[in-house]
Amino acid sequence: MIGPAIDRRALLGGFAGFTAATLPRTTRAAPLPLVEVAPGLFVHVGVHQDFSPGNRGGIANLALIVGGEAVAVVDAGGSPAQARDFLEAIAARTDRPVRHAILTHHHPDHVMGAAVFRAIGARIWGHARLEAALLDRFTTYRAAMERLLGAAIAGAEPVPVEESVAVETPRRVDLGGRVLELRAWPTAHTDCDLTVLDTATGTLIAGDLLFLERIPVIDGSLLGWLRVMDELARIPARLVVPGHGPASAPWPEALASQRRYLEDLAAAVRRAIARGRSLSTLLAEPPPAGDWLLSSDDHPRNITAAYKELEWE
Ligand SMILES: [Zn+2]
Repeated sequence: MIGPAIDRRALLGGFAGFTAATLPRTTRAAPLPLVEVAPGLFVHVGVHQDFSPGNRGGIANLALIVGGEAVAVVDAGGSPAQARDFLEAIAARTDRPVRHAILTHHHPDHVMGAAVFRAIGARIWGHARLEAALLDRFTTYRAAMERLLGAAIAGAEPVPVEESVAVETPRRVDLGGRVLELRAWPTAHTDCDLTVLDTATGTLIAGDLLFLERIPVIDGSLLGWLRVMDELARIPARLVVPGHGPASAPWPEALASQRRYLEDLAAAVRRAIARGRSLSTLLAEPPPAGDWLLSSDDHPRNITAAYKELEWE
């Protein structure tokens, strides 16, 4: 998910104005289901929906990696309520402490639960540009999420990024006999995308650099994303955990559908620009979105983003 749609809804819908102190604790949903996609690497699969009180922001995939001494989570959930349920599910799997919370980028479905992990002492990791991106958008995101999710969002706070990762300077996190490699990327899905490679199992946790099933959303650069995908494809992994989609998929084959969508989008928009068609004309007769889920809002937004980027080529 990305900012502009949420910003728009926030502006249209207003602000509920409640605070954490006045809200009851939200009713517990069923325990957060986790799928073990590789030994000691668990994924919670987000639902393919827009934000709603029923899903409590749980629309993105979340990962949990258990090492010999410590646990890392990759992404913190779409609300503190979901993060608390994630913690409960973690406690049912391991008694090792959650020492690291790695955030793949600043979109609310990935970070709104981060304060819950900070409160239990987890160190917050992210792209070198993540903290600025969080500060830039957090207030707007939270106001929108209060309206869209209700009580589940109570307690959401921006977190300081204590361990930052610069582009082209990967960092390693040792969980005790299990090393994660963190890489920050040039602007692609957003300007603060980060991936995690679990070297023990050859599993790449791609965040929203990879969408499966749910339509990819451009909040950074279409051409940048295609370039980053070329580099991603060279990562020696066996499996990938996408930011949205199934718990895991074969790597690098899983890149194919997203690459096709983004390449087709670039080609269609370039053709339109070459023929002198305006953006509004193109949006009136958009190129097909294919079989992607939730494309009715996000495909036109991608066309708009692509047009604005490519008209200056
Ligand atoms: Zn995203």
